[in-house]
Amino acid sequence: MSRVYNFSAGPAVLPEEVLREAAEEMMDYKGSGMSVMEMSHRSKVYDGIIKEAEADLRELMNIPDNYKVLFLQGGASQQFAMIPMNLMKNKKAAYIVTGQWAKKAFQEAQNYGEAVKVASSEDETFSYIPDCSDLDIPEDADYVYICENNTIYGTKYKTLPNTKGHTLVADVSSCFLSEPVDVSKYGIIYGGVQKNIGPAGVVIVIIREDLITEDTLPGTPTMLKYKTHADADSLYNTPPAYGIYVCGKVFKWLKKMGGLDAMKKRNEEKAKILYDFLDESKMFKGTVRKEDRSLMNVPFVTGDKDLDAKFVKEAEAAGFVNLKGHRTVGGMRASIYNAMPKEGVEKLVEFMKKFEKEN
Ligand SMILES: *Cc1c(COP(=O)(O)O)cnc(C)c1O
Repeated sequence: MSRVYNFSAGPAVLPEEVLREAAEEMMDYKGSGMSVMEMSHRSKVYDGIIKEAEADLRELMNIPDNYKVLFLQGGASQQFAMIPMNLMKNKKAAYIVTGQWAKKAFQEAQNYGEAVKVASSEDETFSYIPDCSDLDIPEDADYVYICENNTIYGTKYKTLPNTKGHTLVADVSSCFLSEPVDVSKYGIIYGGVQKNIGPAGVVIVIIREDLITEDTLPGTPTMLKYKTHADADSLYNTPPAYGIYVCGKVFKWLKKMGGLDAMKKRNEEKAKILYDFLDESKMFKGTVRKEDRSLMNVPFVTGDKDLDAKFVKEAEAAGFVNLKGHRTVGGMRASIYNAMPKEGVEKLVEFMKKFEKEN
């Protein structure tokens, strides 16, 4: 067996320990005589798995009792529609556009009501987070929407926007469980799990109970109502059962690692190794404003397309894979999620130093 250092933005690296455990339990989950993949989601065994996953997530994030945790399908992108369908009572919402994912959510919301762009960083290729301390938010907006960590551009909000009393909705797909958060500041905090938590196919939605109502936009499908899933504890229909099981294992791993405070410290150390090098290198440069740098996604360029391509190719041959930047930014991007070991970042930087010397 040989494992590479996988810097993919998603689906992405998972803790080896979790993969091993899942492999061990593949044929016979704890004496049940079957794989979790083969199990009824209504069985007692599976009920234990999903309940424990939720309890561990609640503990990790310190989720208040008046929030529901929903394990859904359809990816983060499905939420782009589900959020307005469930929350746009006044048919109006404010969007802060800091990258492609926020932009897609903003565009999707226009199908359901008036989505107002209250701030954007598109003028400088989304390389910074706009000042959100005093935005012109419509009085009757149902919520303010952000993408908290911009996976493609490598920026992250260091302070949450001043929503002026409006409900905050955040896509945290690429920074989920990377550091502690105060859930009570959000109405909805959600993300696809394939960046930092588990296998693609699960999206976790943490939603304040008062936002779960029958009063959705006319025509909202049953499957796209939060209430449907909240009332059935995420078991209205067959959930992405195996994926939730793996997420549960990652929650246990995170607890063992010391929880989210410890993850934050570890992630800061890892990111610092890479950013410090980018700041001193004559060849490689980070692409975003320093104050807004993400701990999870680190885009960088050499300034020369051919040299970028050469770097990506040679890095891959050396066992550092998926470093090619997003097609809209070019250059490189190293995604260094929770499960990327510090050693992986150290070795990448060593490789970059060597490449700089030789080119
Ligand atoms: C990857 C990503 C998405 C899209 O996720 P899907 O599960 O593919 O729909 C949305 N938002 C952010 C921030 C992402 O990183």
